[in-house]
Amino acid sequence: MDHLKIAPIIAYIGLGSNLAAPVAQIQSARTAIAAQAGVQELGFSSLYRSAPMGPQDQPDYINAVMAIATDLSPMALLRCLQGIENNHGRVRTGEQWGPRTLDLDVLIYGDQKLDLPDLTVPHKGLAERSFVLYPLFEIAPRLVVPGKGPIADLVAACPLARLKRLD
Ligand code: ADP
Ligand code: MG
Repeated sequence: MDHLKIAPIIAYIGLGSNLAAPVAQIQSARTAIAAQAGVQELGFSSLYRSAPMGPQDQPDYINAVMAIATDLSPMALLRCLQGIENNHGRVRTGEQWGPRTLDLDVLIYGDQKLDLPDLTVPHKGLAERSFVLYPLFEIAPRLVVPGKGPIADLVAACPLARLKRLD
């Protein structure tokens, strides 16, 4: 039944960290994601430094975006990313936008729009967050974000704010 094999989906993952050597956290997360069964890395953005959302008494974040091809369902991908967050010492305090060693979000999953109890895709904050839009635009400049439009338009409408690309 090989002819019925489903083609992998292209998905984009947002990575963020502001504790315990954030650059190393992001690099280690990239390796862990690429090593998952059913996941293949297609691209990885530069690293970006961003000011925290919400509580300001926490360190700046390091952010990046990764493109993957995957055979995993959206929920299986989310669970797999949460497992990697846990392995990186993430402690869930319940504080919204509080500091974290590693945050992995499913930004986009193919052309799908999902509103499940545990998973909204495209990610809810995507269109307002410069630390997501700029790295996404860097690796996928012609992307159309399902329900939201061309990434180039979203970037043009989103101020850089306190975002800096690192070399
Ligand atoms: P945030 O990333 O918004 O700072 P968390 O990482 O603590 O917050 O995630 C909180 C919840 O968000 C998770 O329990 C997860 O089920 C839910 N969630 C909904 N949509 C997504 C998504 N697209 N990617 C990752 N988590 C999501
Ligand atoms: Mg998250």
